[in-house]
Amino acid sequence: MTVPAGILRRSSVPVQVGDVVIGGGPVVVQSMTNTDTADIKGTTQQVFDLARAGSEIVRITVDRDEAAKAVPHIRDALDKLGCTVPLVGDFHYIGHTLLRENPACAEALAKYRINPGNVGFREKRDKQFSTMIEVAMEYDRPVRIGVNWGSLDQDLVVGLMDENAKLAVPKSAAEVTEDALVLSALKSAALAEELGMARNKIVLSCKVSDVQSLVRVYRDLAGQCDYALHLGLTEAGMGSKGIVASTAALSILLQEGIGDTIRVSLTPEPGGDRTEEVIVAQQILQTMGIRSFMPLVTACPGCGRTTSTVFQDLAGKIQSYLRERMPSWRESYPGVEDMNVAVMGCIVNGPGESKHADIGISLPGTGETPSAPVFIDGEKRMTLKGVGIAEEFQGIVEDYVKNRYGRDASATDAAE
Ligand code: SF4
Repeated sequence: MTVPAGILRRSSVPVQVGDVVIGGGPVVVQSMTNTDTADIKGTTQQVFDLARAGSEIVRITVDRDEAAKAVPHIRDALDKLGCTVPLVGDFHYIGHTLLRENPACAEALAKYRINPGNVGFREKRDKQFSTMIEVAMEYDRPVRIGVNWGSLDQDLVVGLMDENAKLAVPKSAAEVTEDALVLSALKSAALAEELGMARNKIVLSCKVSDVQSLVRVYRDLAGQCDYALHLGLTEAGMGSKGIVASTAALSILLQEGIGDTIRVSLTPEPGGDRTEEVIVAQQILQTMGIRSFMPLVTACPGCGRTTSTVFQDLAGKIQSYLRERMPSWRESYPGVEDMNVAVMGCIVNGPGESKHADIGISLPGTGETPSAPVFIDGEKRMTLKGVGIAEEFQGIVEDYVKNRYGRDASATDAAE
């Protein structure tokens, strides 16, 4: 998939994180665990699940000595599972001590996240920040300097507020806070560079939980630097509110070419699946035409012409089937992520939409003949009937994927 003409990616200094490059290429999807990192088994499983869902970098909390000691074991366990996803350590308050006292942890992590607002107070701040940068340089690791408005450096805010009060036309408190976020990130990056860290080892983020504020802050940040930028609306919330708020904020900025890596910070429902944040991040990028991750299912919303649940069942089954098959298809069938599948509810738009898809099925609406024509590459190829339509259609999709995206198929295409 090519990036749509309306999106010109901002040019940023690429940063290597394990096998993944942030900046100067495709926008990278990240996620974060919510397990106790000291729980090696539970954290390994969740990182594995997030990576399998498509998270290209996974961040884990490193909040105490037990967590730091667990990190190399988590890395080993993932490697044994064949999961090479880079791990990022999220440090607050005592990161300098944890990294210094746990060299195996420093080695196992591919990047360190430092929050300048939570790295110590006053005279200790620069010293502790410097220690983390020095460790990163010793281990040749990049850092993300991640500012968050919930933990903004208060000395910096107070200083800016005092300066602002002297202006003939002072800015609002919210504007000064936004300025402080950007300044905190840029000042910390400048200090890291003064300490000897290369620009291609620095990623910046300035997270807030308000959509319009996030847009203003990132426009300002992107206009002032060429560091790679990690993008995300912090504390986006639960369910549809979190998804809509993240999508609104990230879409505006991505459309302007801002953001080299994204995370969607959803609060899971109790017992919910953490991988939802990965799926939403992928869907934002894919529906905007920026990157492809898995086949898109075009499904009509249904209406009074679809009085049975057959249509909803089939659309749901196909969506689950594609997601389930994608980790294996991704390896064997390059390009399958661009496939379009249509599942339509009746004859009104069904055949037309199915013809536009790579493969589509048009189910019978109320009062229509109980049969479902299947369209492949724009042509009606067969008609399905009876109770096993979903399974039969899945089999047809599987064959289509093998024939169109299999290596033998590519070789045949190239030879023709
Ligand atoms: S395709 Fe048919 S069932 Fe689906 S929304 Fe349109 S009219 Fe309704």
